[in-house]
Formats: sequence, C-alpha cells, structure tokens
Amino acid sequence: MIRFNPILNSFPEYNPSSVKLSNDLIDLSKNENPFDVSQEIKQIFYNKINQTSLNRYPELTSETIRQKIAEFLNEYFKSYNLSLNKNNIVVGNGSDELISYLVKIFDGEEVIVCPPTFEMYEFYSTLHNLKVKKVPLDQNFEIRNLGQKIDEKARLIFICSPNNPTGNIQPEEEIVKVLETGFPVVIDEAYADFSKKSMIKYVEKYPNLIILRTFSKAFGLAGIRAGILIANQKIVNQIMKIKSPYSFNILSEKMVETIIENYEDVLKTIDYIIEERNTLSEKLKGYALKSDSNFLLIDLSKISGLSAEDAYNFFLENKIIVRKYSGVLENKIRVTVGTKEENKKFLDCFNSLLDKYY
Ligand code: PMP
Repeated sequence: MIRFNPILNSFPEYNPSSVKLSNDLIDLSKNENPFDVSQEIKQIFYNKINQTSLNRYPELTSETIRQKIAEFLNEYFKSYNLSLNKNNIVVGNGSDELISYLVKIFDGEEVIVCPPTFEMYEFYSTLHNLKVKKVPLDQNFEIRNLGQKIDEKARLIFICSPNNPTGNIQPEEEIVKVLETGFPVVIDEAYADFSKKSMIKYVEKYPNLIILRTFSKAFGLAGIRAGILIANQKIVNQIMKIKSPYSFNILSEKMVETIIENYEDVLKTIDYIIEERNTLSEKLKGYALKSDSNFLLIDLSKISGLSAEDAYNFFLENKIIVRKYSGVLENKIRVTVGTKEENKKFLDCFNSLLDKYY
C-alpha cells in the first residue's frame, strides 16, 4: 500500500508553469541577471572541463573549492580584513540546498521567519515538520526589535537582507540586536552584491551568525546552481555531517572556480544593474518601493480597479513576465531589473497600463 507523508497535504499541488518561455518573451520574474557570462569566461570553463574526468565523482567534501572561495571572499571584502578559510565555508547546489540543512542542524521548537519574505525558509521547515513562527516586518518592511519577540523556543532565525520580495536592506543595528540574543541567525544575502553592504564582517565576532550568498544573481550563474554558506567552523562541521556528499557537482565547481578567478566583469555588471535600478525606480514615479537589490516591488494600490492579476496579464500580453503577489502584498508586482532595452520596454508597457486605468 502506498501511503504518502501527510505533511505533503499542506503543500500546493504540483503545477507546471503555464507560461511557455520563448525567445520573444522577456522574463523579469525570477530576479536573474540579464547578462550571461562572457564567451571568454565560458572558454576558460570549457578548457577546465576538457581537463577533468567526468567519470569520477567530485571531491567528497569540496575542500579545494571551499578554500578557493574563502580566499576569494577575503579579497572581495578586502576592506573588512576577513581571514576566512575552508572551515568557514559550505558549498551547495544553490543556496536553497543550504537552507534545507540549516533547518535541520539546530535544536529548538520554532523556526523564526519575517514575512513577507523568501518562501523557502518556511518550505523546508514545514517539510521537516518544524513549527514556523512568523514575526512580520513592520510597515517599512523592516525587522524592528525582533530580538524581543523571540524566546527560548527559537531554533533559528531567518533574515533576508536585502529582502525578497520587498527589495530593502535590513538595518544593521537591528540585525546586531538579534545576533546579541545568541540564537542562530541566518542572514540571506542573495542580493547583497547590489547593496554593497554585508554582515559577513561579523562572522568572526558572532559564532551564531550564518551568511548565505549565491552565484545565481550578481555573478550570473543561476543555471549552474551554486550557493555558499559562511559561518563559524562549529556550524560548518555540523552541516558537513549531514550534507549530501556529491551535491556540488564538478561543473558547478569548475564554473565557480572560473568566475572567482575572473570577476572583473561581475563588478561592472553590478554597477550597471544598480544604475538601471535607480533609473527605473525614478521613472516609475513613486510606484516602486526603495530597493537595494536587482528588482523592484511595485505598488499598484493607488490605481483604482487595477489588480496585480490584471497587471500581470497586461504585461504578459505585451510579452513581459513579472511576478504577481496577493495576501499582505496584495496589488503588488515584482519586476527584475533587466538590460536597458528590457527596462525601457517594461516602462513603456507600464505607462500604457497607467493610461488604460486613468
Ligand atoms: N535566497 C533568496 C532571498 C532568493 O531570492 C533566492 C533565489 N530566488 C535564493 C536564496 C536561492 O538562490 P539559489 O538557490 O539560486 O542560490
């Protein structure tokens, strides 16, 4: 007899996306980087792959790439004078995989999340039958006195900064107050390259701090699936005990190695995206929330009669995909910052939408 885990009943049905991606569609719904890595970078990657035996498993605990990433981070964050080494790093098949381990390694009844935020914290907690305590962000989508709202039942706390989907960075002094509680605190910095601020500087001071970063956004490698976790060695060791042994495959390893040895283009792309984000935000005439990331949350509630669903459909008819929201984010859509041309198309479309509803 087949008996499914009853937890699965609380998950939405598997629904393959009804939108078929095609070359004439502009996908601004997934916060990806609009630029692929260059042909030169790909060539270096191909050369590395040519010299790699694909019949062999990757290195069991990814020691070599973890050390290279640690050295890269020490250089990338030069001004913080970090002295990270491989014992501070875990690599994962996207940071999603790392989130799935984080919810498992600590003790305590409740996983704390601060909605509206990235859904995967709740997803993996629920999957592992853990209780999720929601401490909503304030009206500015900031954590405010979060430390005072948690008690000894806390297992770990997820803070996303800059926050997806609202785009804003969390105040440093508020994060520090949460760190002072001593409970494990995860700062998900998937978009922090676009804010040029990081809490990584506190990793040596706070043994309860865990930073998540990804190569999927600023580094333009969403298809490669590479996420990293930076933390105290004690936390890293616990994760290494339960980590799926070969989840970080050879292709990811070689591509990450390539990009961290050649990241000048990444820095240029980050500046391009920040500039485009600021321009787009300004041209959206107050409809966009202030963003420190590579996307904008747009509030349509001032436009009477226009729902997020209507806006989504209107953009889709015009071959642009955005992300629509409901619930606490009712009447809001999220748009990823694309290339200059894509952003112009989005803006033209947004202006037509305003004309239609005013
Ligand atoms: N954290 C946040 C806040 C995200 O938005 C995403 C991707 N959408 C991730 C983590 C996961 O990134 P990846 O698994 O591609 O590293």
